[in-house]
Amino acid sequence: MRDARYSTALAAAAVSALLAIPFARANPAPLRPRALASATPVRAVTAPARAVVRAAPRPVVRELGHGQLIEGRCPPSIPRCIALTFDDGPEYRSTPRVLDLLDARGIKATFFVVGHRIDGDDPYHTANRAVLRDIARRGHLIGNHTFHHVELDRLRDNALADEIDRTESLIRQSIGRRSWLLRAPFGALLRQRTVDAVFSRGYTPVYWELDTRDWATPSVQGVIDGFRQALLESPRGGVVLLHDTHWWSVAALPHILAILDRRNADLIAHGEAPYRFVNLDALYRPLGDEAPRGMPLPRRRHHGAD
Ligand SMILES: [Zn+2]
Repeated sequence: MRDARYSTALAAAAVSALLAIPFARANPAPLRPRALASATPVRAVTAPARAVVRAAPRPVVRELGHGQLIEGRCPPSIPRCIALTFDDGPEYRSTPRVLDLLDARGIKATFFVVGHRIDGDDPYHTANRAVLRDIARRGHLIGNHTFHHVELDRLRDNALADEIDRTESLIRQSIGRRSWLLRAPFGALLRQRTVDAVFSRGYTPVYWELDTRDWATPSVQGVIDGFRQALLESPRGGVVLLHDTHWWSVAALPHILAILDRRNADLIAHGEAPYRFVNLDALYRPLGDEAPRGMPLPRRRHHGAD
């Protein structure tokens, strides 16, 4: 249904939508089956961490500004990069394990959270909110992934606004500040009014370059193979799509890190630049400054003071 460049094509389509220019991919086909999107039962994580334990630095993560886009590829200034992103949480039964694995390596990641997991005073939602606060406390970025994990392009204006604003309000209540990043469920962000709704609120939409397909392959080996394949197709790396709600994704994470360790050892041995873990703010680009050749610059509206 999609090829390895789909995320890039989709991001280009989003730019095209912003420009109100018809783009080759007219049909925003969902990227993943809805049944796997969220509320997946989580089992105990058993895979041992093979991480090298060292003190986890706490770099200051620069907040992203307005009117930017993150397609998912490494910037020219970084030969190889990896930016880990985790969608559909927070989930108190699985996300903490991800946080521990990342801390053990001093890696900062981004978590795109859905509002329905943190809305309520019962023990489940209260526990998830505590996890969200922990994500922020440990220095990771948090992004909006809508309330119900719905395809935004299909919604009427009121519902569209509610999906974004309700989630934002919950994030703000939990961590005391808003988020500036948004990942549209299924990567579907094509209609003009959806794009307008996202940018008018100051969000930077985030796509991905390496899809582990953990949403389609509910097995640890499947995620590992998916990551290997994605890295083969995008050898410079980029934004990696994972889900902290899937036990198989969490269990695969140490193996993914080990794959990168081995690749880096090989690259260094051959005098080549290794993969660097980066935060998403290393990957954004201002809209308009690098518009595809032959396309008019986007209208800079609702983008704040710039
Ligand atoms: Zn999602």
